[in-house]
Amino acid sequence: MSATLHCDILIRHASVLTPEMKIATNQFIAVQDGKILMTGPDDKVQFSAEETYDDDDLLWMPGLTDGHIHTSQQFLRGRLLDVKPVIWKRVNVPFESRLTESLSKLSASLAALEMISSGTTSFVDAGGKYPEAFADVYERSGLRGFLTVMTNDSPHAPESLRAPSVDAAIKRLREMKSALTGCSGRITPIYSVTTPTAVSEDLLRAVMQTSTEDNVPFETHLNEYASEVTEFIERYGERPFIWMEKEQLIPQRMLAAHAIFLSQDEIDVLREYNIPVVHCPFSNCGKGVPPTPQLLHDHISCGFGSDGAGHGGLDLFREIRLFRSLMQVERGVTTADSSVMPAETLLSMAVRGGGAALRGALDGSIKAGAPADLIAIDMDCPRLWPTQNMVHTLVECASGSDVKHSIIDGKSVMKDRKILTMDMEKIRYETGHAADENPWLTNWI
Ligand SMILES: [Zn+2]
Repeated sequence: MSATLHCDILIRHASVLTPEMKIATNQFIAVQDGKILMTGPDDKVQFSAEETYDDDDLLWMPGLTDGHIHTSQQFLRGRLLDVKPVIWKRVNVPFESRLTESLSKLSASLAALEMISSGTTSFVDAGGKYPEAFADVYERSGLRGFLTVMTNDSPHAPESLRAPSVDAAIKRLREMKSALTGCSGRITPIYSVTTPTAVSEDLLRAVMQTSTEDNVPFETHLNEYASEVTEFIERYGERPFIWMEKEQLIPQRMLAAHAIFLSQDEIDVLREYNIPVVHCPFSNCGKGVPPTPQLLHDHISCGFGSDGAGHGGLDLFREIRLFRSLMQVERGVTTADSSVMPAETLLSMAVRGGGAALRGALDGSIKAGAPADLIAIDMDCPRLWPTQNMVHTLVECASGSDVKHSIIDGKSVMKDRKILTMDMEKIRYETGHAADENPWLTNWI
């Protein structure tokens, strides 16, 4: 008989979403030092643990990655629906320009609560004025994420968000990088510009080149509006990815948010430079439908993002379901093809795509050696049970509120829907107080 081994967390009698996006029943998962130590059939378990989850109604799956969130826009929930484009210029950036450091911190607390409680375990933020304040909150929350400074030198940008010069913008990004280097490793820096058409050519070149020099990933909104692609061509004579490639600006690790309007030669650049993309289905409905089947066919990593709470909240299960519907209407109906975007593909995008791809190949799978970022879905509820196919049911019926437990980096951050790392009542009180003191927070014109 083999000896009993010890681990930090032991999950028993579980259904598990495998790396092939199939369901294996009656499994164990042993977690040690932030990683999955071993997984397999429960009758082979040989571990004792500090903490045990033993519930055969749970389906354990990798945590979801929000590949494009705007931490600063948590107070814009409910404000953006039915607003005429272009929303980010007319509403979002002016709103963010008024956020103080303490309000930014509160916004991060609200975003962290919402992400954890809806099954998101990692994220890529699109940039704010106070990423160090975000980092302080996210570090304590237990989440894993990338943060950046909102970098913009447009004369049309609000003064409080406008970089006074290219040198000042680079200095600020490097300051942020140094500050975040002091974090645990779960919170890491990226460089960014708001969007290429919103900044000067000098700034765009400088940030992309500095990403390469400093070996820091680069992220930006790209090919989000057809009009932005046209504007880019007017300024630079080429489509965005083609120009960046010709100018040899593409850093080793780059993430493209939205990426809706792509030509085939741009898709070729994405493939050649291994650039993952993040679609934000709810937000993108006001813009267009991306060529995702073609991207996946060309082995480009595609993930999901919420685009911030102002675009319908941060629940990625909803984004998965909406994206499936969009793809079906746009590409499946005309060809009577019901498998344009199969359930397994959608789930794989949610756990491995975009931001997860930026971190490394091991993420997004329940297997030995992978980071222990895991969520448990409570399948014992009328919305999810009984089912003839759990994978289909996850796509069609699950929501963030079905997530019962969350483990990030090998530590329990939510148990029985109670978030262990944050004081929800205190944040609720602070939010009410902040709204009383700053009426524009919840009543932005
Ligand atoms: Zn965005």
